[in-house]
Amino acid sequence: MRDGLADELANWMRRGYPYEVVALLLGSFDSADDIVITQCVPVANQALDPSRHFVMDPQGWLTADTQAQSLGLDIVGMVHSHPDAPPYPSHADSASAALLGTRFVYLIAAVDAGGAVEMQAWRWDGQMFCEQRLQCR
Ligand SMILES: [Zn+2]
Repeated sequence: MRDGLADELANWMRRGYPYEVVALLLGSFDSADDIVITQCVPVANQALDPSRHFVMDPQGWLTADTQAQSLGLDIVGMVHSHPDAPPYPSHADSASAALLGTRFVYLIAAVDAGGAVEMQAWRWDGQMFCEQRLQCR
């Protein structure tokens, strides 16, 4: 992950609290297992109950895709927040990950009322989520 991006994301998750905040991650696939994240594109959360769920505005995908293409990048993953909940994937997360496939990185940011943010990256292996290490460079 690009240096500084984690802080940007954390601040943004704090601002969105107590609602779930969602964004698409742009970057590149270095090798089969290495993903470099360099940008994030905020996407509106259209869920009826945005404190417990997220539904991405489809327009957000188009915006992110256009931005990715203009920068020579790919959409490599997504990030969303879990207000007052740990950064572990929910059943809903598993369902959407199954649709998005195994190359996608799934970043979850736990955020609480005190502003503490804990991020964990996940990768769907076709059956379940596996923890993914996150490095800043
Ligand atoms: Zn979730």
